[in-house]
Amino acid sequence: MSTLASEGYFGGIYQMMKSILIGMRITIKYCFSPVVTIRYPFERISFAPRYRGIHEFEAEKCIACDMCAKACPVDCIYIDKSAPRKIDKKTGTATGGDLLRYAIDYQKCMFCALCTEPCPTDCIHMGKNHDLSAYTREDMIVEFAELDKKGLRTPIPLWMERNAPTIPWVAREKERLERGEIATTEADIPEL
Ligand code: SF4
Ligand code: SF4
Repeated sequence: MSTLASEGYFGGIYQMMKSILIGMRITIKYCFSPVVTIRYPFERISFAPRYRGIHEFEAEKCIACDMCAKACPVDCIYIDKSAPRKIDKKTGTATGGDLLRYAIDYQKCMFCALCTEPCPTDCIHMGKNHDLSAYTREDMIVEFAELDKKGLRTPIPLWMERNAPTIPWVAREKERLERGEIATTEADIPEL
């Protein structure tokens, strides 16, 4: 009985030492392996041309036809207009009623891009921003028609507001958003 107990005691010590050595071996191995992560946001991530981030919306081209909302598999696009809208062929912008609301609920959006496919005026795009952390559920619903009144195509995330003063690439990206430039254009997408 005492022999068995003694083997169990020393066996436990053996197993503990063995697991420590295995852990140390793995740790040391990764200390000398090539780095595969970056210190984001101090270093910039490069995205694939077809990366699907937070949408960019050209409100002046939206005719509020609801085709994007109908295509959305999770029903997270909300649109309201005061009267029918249509594209003025001379200016290429929408005329008619007001676009009262164009909102996307990012608590539900799964970034599938199905909303961008049927748009007849090509005014809803998948952008490059990926981080839309917020303090409330309400803040996760982006009111794009309201952003348009401030000249924005997409929201400026909290992390960007906070890091722009100290990180140059973040400042440049924030300036791009403030200029209302969209990130994804046909020129960004290479031919297959
Ligand atoms: S990306 Fe997909 S889930 Fe998100 S709004 Fe568009 S269709 Fe809906
Ligand atoms: S499909 Fe395009 S034009 Fe129609 S409501 Fe959606 S964004 Fe606007």
